[in-house]
Amino acid sequence: MQKRVLLKRGKEESLLRFHPWIFSGAIASIEGTPDEGDVVDVYTYDGKWIAAGHIQVGSIAVRVLTFTQESIDKAFWQKKIAIAYKLRSDLGLTNRADHNIYRLIHGEGDNLPGLVVDVYGRTAVVQAHSVGMHCNRMDIAQAIVDVLGDKILSVYYKSETTLPYKAQADNSTGYIIGGHLNDVPLEYGLKLPVDWINGQKTGLFIDQRENRALLEKYSNGRSVLNMFCYTGGFSLAALRGGAKLVHSVDSSAKATELTIKGVKDNFPDDDRHKAFAEDAFKFLDNMKEKYDLIILDPPAFAKHRDALKRALIGYRRLNEKALEKIEPGGILFTFSCSQVVTKEQFRMAVFTAAAQAGRSVKILYQLHQPADHPINIFHPEGEYLKGLVLSVE
Ligand code: SAH
Repeated sequence: MQKRVLLKRGKEESLLRFHPWIFSGAIASIEGTPDEGDVVDVYTYDGKWIAAGHIQVGSIAVRVLTFTQESIDKAFWQKKIAIAYKLRSDLGLTNRADHNIYRLIHGEGDNLPGLVVDVYGRTAVVQAHSVGMHCNRMDIAQAIVDVLGDKILSVYYKSETTLPYKAQADNSTGYIIGGHLNDVPLEYGLKLPVDWINGQKTGLFIDQRENRALLEKYSNGRSVLNMFCYTGGFSLAALRGGAKLVHSVDSSAKATELTIKGVKDNFPDDDRHKAFAEDAFKFLDNMKEKYDLIILDPPAFAKHRDALKRALIGYRRLNEKALEKIEPGGILFTFSCSQVVTKEQFRMAVFTAAAQAGRSVKILYQLHQPADHPINIFHPEGEYLKGLVLSVE
């Protein structure tokens, strides 16, 4: 029997506008007893086929893969990956000798809800955020290799923290095609210490690439404080940009170790850099030194809507501390990657921080995620990274 989901009357409306999620409350009945992760066909209350997608237990019951009647087979994955790859090639990210890191698939932004693929040299790191993508991982890995040819030799699967049930994902973590290569991950000429096996996310916050490049231009002669540094991407950009000194802070000692390694790999015998494994708020409270350029790139303070109010207070407090201490004429790069915090809310939190710190502040740039993290226009929830570059009197 065909595995199908029948919608309640009127619940097809968001699908007619190509929104890729079907909530459990929109479903009238499920036929053919699909397993979690199966592809199901979706029909309106009056029996018209409208979409097909992965079914999952939870509030998002179906993640839509297509609004056209087609098979979800090898050719489907190849077609989707080819479209995504072309977009990255057009951006000039796939064919440079000095750069080999980019996001190949960005979930809903590439019409593949639940799937993230990041490329580091000739390795693709695949992360499933849905059971369906987990079930299809081998087809996806093969399609990546088929489409990218000799540009990808290895595929590493890493979903132990992103899937609803841990056990199955744990067993499948590891290389599913090829094995470890000795490629050096490069971001615009800088060697980045990427550890996809033990690191956060797929090993790097690729989404800050263009913002790191912008920071480089503001670094010359400045003393720089990189808060929440993770593997130190902003620190490396600042050092190359000619910073007088760079201090990197992260509460994770693993992160500061990788930052130190990155500095050594790129700038051997350079003594301008120091790393501190400390809590960012405490560091800002206790620091004696003032800096000319501060980066604030904290983890998402709000992962859910109910945490929004506290998150906004967190952003306000953090930015207030930095604005109190930055040198006159200083530059602040400040970010929020919380999906539930809007651009306006974030800007208001920073505005309040500036008023409370009593500093005169100008906005130089309003930053966002780069084009290899595209936003599906029908899924505005996909816009998550926001940043401001401020000049502080
Ligand atoms: N700017 C980084 C990415 C930052 S991710 C880059 O360009 O790669 C956020 C980082 O904040 C993580 O590395 C996490 O370990 C760190 N972190 C989380 N809470 C912290 C805290 N209270 N103090 C300092 N660092 C913290």
